[in-house]
Amino acid sequence: MKSSTSGIFQTALHNFEMSAKRLKLDEAIQHKIEEPRERIELTLSPILPNGKVITVKAFVVRHNEALGPSKGGIRMSPEVTLDDVSGLSMEMTWKTALIDVPFGGGKSGIKADPTKLSPNEKEVIIRSFTRGAKRHIGPEIYIPAPDMGTNELDMAHIRDCISYSEGISITKGCFVTGKPVILGGIVGRREATGKGVVQTILAMCQKLGLDMNDMRVAIQGFGNVGAISAVEVTKHGAKVVAVADICGGVAKPDGLDIEALMQHVKEKGCVKRFKDAKAFDGGRIFDIDCDILIPAATGSQITMKNADKIKAKFIAEGANAPTTPEGDAILRKRHIPVIPDILCNAGGVFVSYLEYTQETQHEQMTLAEVERRLSDRMKKRFNEVFDFAREKRLTMREAAMDIAVSKVVEAIFTRGLLP
Ligand code: NAD
Repeated sequence: MKSSTSGIFQTALHNFEMSAKRLKLDEAIQHKIEEPRERIELTLSPILPNGKVITVKAFVVRHNEALGPSKGGIRMSPEVTLDDVSGLSMEMTWKTALIDVPFGGGKSGIKADPTKLSPNEKEVIIRSFTRGAKRHIGPEIYIPAPDMGTNELDMAHIRDCISYSEGISITKGCFVTGKPVILGGIVGRREATGKGVVQTILAMCQKLGLDMNDMRVAIQGFGNVGAISAVEVTKHGAKVVAVADICGGVAKPDGLDIEALMQHVKEKGCVKRFKDAKAFDGGRIFDIDCDILIPAATGSQITMKNADKIKAKFIAEGANAPTTPEGDAILRKRHIPVIPDILCNAGGVFVSYLEYTQETQHEQMTLAEVERRLSDRMKKRFNEVFDFAREKRLTMREAAMDIAVSKVVEAIFTRGLLP
């Protein structure tokens, strides 16, 4: 496992190993936790609507189930690897423990480019993945959700495909979260991750004595997490001064019109050529003069090459594993606090948990109830991590990791190790 070249995997492993050292974990227990419970590589051969048969690789990793069944999103990207999915699934183990939901860590990946697929082609690939991975999906096994490159319609197709293959309309048990509301989804799930990110930003500003009305925000990634974070920070008085996505960056020092930018992305597919803003090379988002930086794209973006250029007062990790260990060390030296991914973007899995409970109870929660519970949980966990970090003189990432790893270790011992 350690020979991996995946940045995401190396980051997840490094953060765990550092925590294991601080917690003085027994070597055998450390090894047990490091290794995923199940790591599967699938070769799919879907027939596209034009009659062409293609080959698509897909991965499912269930990392640790001491606290409950595996939970984690499906990433669709041409770059995703089995090692990335392993790293992301390990992250989910800590995230679910930290945010206190009865799940373990899981993740899956489909190696395809969603930006180059027609809706019909994407549906065929999603259904092919569901058939291929069906043995590994279920309310007590692994419950997928949207992640980078997938959305609620994809979750609807997964649910339909499972119902279809069982020959019944599944209403009992939650096989997948992040579904459309009409199919048992929960109101507010699509916005939950971004809203949760901003709850942690508000809590951080309060702790640091910063006024949101003075905050200038730069965001990398303008998909689900990035765009919702942009909407929410502006609602709370901040200005979004720069946004970058896979095509490039757009900046406006007195604040971008976020609704208009969202409309532009809907029509053109990315932020490039948005009028009334200055274009810049997207990779330079980390040089932008801002107060809060939100990486909300992909992994390994803040590195030894750019961490010393960051001007933000703090960083809120909307993306998973956006900071490499080398980048993290530089931020630490420069006293730039980081709200770590396993805390910052945990709002999505928290509301997925609400969807899971709602589905077993056959009752719909209201948006007000979902938002109140999300906000309460994010603030509570933020304060717990922030205070623990202060007390133990740790970074927030170290504090979050130590709290989460301790919970998983306690669950392992409480369940009992096999003789
Ligand atoms: P998305 O597919 O909706 O959007 C991804 C965005 O990132 C797009 O704007 C894309 O152009 C941009 N992007 C991708 N690669 C990039 C690169 N190399 N440089 C610059 N921009 C790039 O994905 P999402 O659901 O918003 O997820 C974004 C991140 O948040 C991922 O790391 C994901 O794992 C994490 N996350 C998502 C959720 C969720 O509920 N969707 C929950 C927790 C964490």
